[in-house]
Amino acid sequence: MKPFGIAIHGGAGTIPRDSLSAEREALYLEGLDRALSAGYEVLLRGGSALEAVREAVVELENNPLFNAGRGSVFNHIGSHDMDAAIMCGRTLEAGAVSGISQIKNPIVLAETILKHSDHVMLIGQGAEEFARLHHLEFADAGYFYDEFRHQQWKEALAAGRTQLDHSLPANEKMGTVGAVAIDLHGNLAAATSTGGMTNKKFGRVGDSSIIGAGNYANNVTCAVSCTGHGEPFLRAVTAHDVSCLMEYKGLSLRDACREVVHKKLPRIHGEGGLIATDAAGNIELVFNSDGMYRGMQHSDGRREVAIYKED
Ligand code: ASP
Repeated sequence: MKPFGIAIHGGAGTIPRDSLSAEREALYLEGLDRALSAGYEVLLRGGSALEAVREAVVELENNPLFNAGRGSVFNHIGSHDMDAAIMCGRTLEAGAVSGISQIKNPIVLAETILKHSDHVMLIGQGAEEFARLHHLEFADAGYFYDEFRHQQWKEALAAGRTQLDHSLPANEKMGTVGAVAIDLHGNLAAATSTGGMTNKKFGRVGDSSIIGAGNYANNVTCAVSCTGHGEPFLRAVTAHDVSCLMEYKGLSLRDACREVVHKKLPRIHGEGGLIATDAAGNIELVFNSDGMYRGMQHSDGRREVAIYKED
């Protein structure tokens, strides 16, 4: 049997071990575990990598602990601007969406763009109009309201700062969720979804929904989903760079991920990490921050969920 597997993340950043209470830690691990199972089940029954990453990300978007979908952070005007992207490594088709505020599952909209439009990326009102045409599920502001998030936003607003989730003090929710998978047909896919930064202004878009920056999949090389400080990740064209190092320089998945995360990104203060898989079924979860909410399951029997660096 050909190897198959999935990896997920729920954001990277400063996560000292003593920053989470035991109950909160258990909730995060449980959330990761559920998302991992949702994606792995798809692969197990012979479903596609694309379907698997979508299912895993939907599960994370529905969990208010993570900064995507329901748990998205508040922007400057007190609403939500969500970004998401999905890519199929077999066809190189991609779908992406930015600056939407009313869609329950942005990753489903990204997938609908991939499958049912002639475009790659739709934004704002236009994207929501497209979602309406395709009968996607909408949610009102109450669905996205979270007391903790609201408090976080009020503090950022009062201090006049725009902040990434992962640069916040301990015990805060981390930003962005993602998944990469290889299915039993050897096809790869990647999906990424985020609420971005608390108190973000001016229609700011990070790396998550930008194909090649925060999300990329190509059967020839790898599938990658990133999390971290979006601006350096954009400038480093991070996900595609991992693929290029493999394709043009012949690096292994492991070496390519390490080169990008531990050498290239730190040069431009790019804090964060990524998850990746390749056509041989290797899986990497690499980060240069203190921690990354993460998990992986492989057909060879390996399964793990972890948060901290030393796990
Ligand atoms: N990369 C995301 C962004 O910049 C945030 C994150 O991964 O935490 O929007």
